[in-house]
Amino acid sequence: MPLLDRLDRELGEGAGLVAIFDYDGTLTPLVSTPEAAVLAPSVRATLARLARSERVRLAILSGRGLSDLKARVALNDVVYGGCHGLEIAGRDLRFRHPRARAADIAATRRELADALPAVPGARLEYKGLAVTLHYRGVRPERWSRVQEIASSVLRRRRTVTVIQGHRIFDFMPRVGWNKGQAARWMVRRMASTLPRGRVVVLYAGDDNTDETAFAALRHRALTIRVGATPTAAQYSVQGVRDVQALLRRMASALAA
Ligand SMILES: [Mg+2]
Repeated sequence: MPLLDRLDRELGEGAGLVAIFDYDGTLTPLVSTPEAAVLAPSVRATLARLARSERVRLAILSGRGLSDLKARVALNDVVYGGCHGLEIAGRDLRFRHPRARAADIAATRRELADALPAVPGARLEYKGLAVTLHYRGVRPERWSRVQEIASSVLRRRRTVTVIQGHRIFDFMPRVGWNKGQAARWMVRRMASTLPRGRVVVLYAGDDNTDETAFAALRHRALTIRVGATPTAAQYSVQGVRDVQALLRRMASALAA
């Protein structure tokens, strides 16, 4: 059944909704620098309508740092998950992974900073529970040098792991946590605050890191991958415009 029809059917008859969205590439188009990923006012307005609905619990889960993510979305009544869900805050929920040690990340940051002069154009972004090495600005012939630096830091720091994204290495505490685990945590907590009755769960994302959530929520959620990549999600949509159509449909079904 086409996605929007399925959504209409599932959301009929008073069901509640827990919806989790990735940010970059899902709610905002992919842009050449992370700073330029700005939420369109119309999308923010639709998200706000949804977030205000009694029947909806809305979350945004991203590899971005929690405060960066909050500032970009800037809506109340939303649950935010930063650093791939190592930190979660919003709507009276608060979580910080108990085994994630900020000191490990601070030490990783220092090691990376020491190595960075060897690769002009590379940049570090410190997010508290993660540190991101951005190498979009590095000349392609030096990318192997970036890889070597990342590998050597990882060899020395056994308590740290890395997630590779689009021209980034995201260094995080190695605590066995990912978007899938975080999404499950969020769904459990958010669903329990909805009025009694049937609860529809939805997760949409565009990245490999979102695949952990598609798998974790396989039997629980309507899962949507944005983009043409093979996926474990039940549905694929082409791009951010399709997500916007989805949001509008959800808002007209659920928001006053
Ligand atoms: Mg994304």
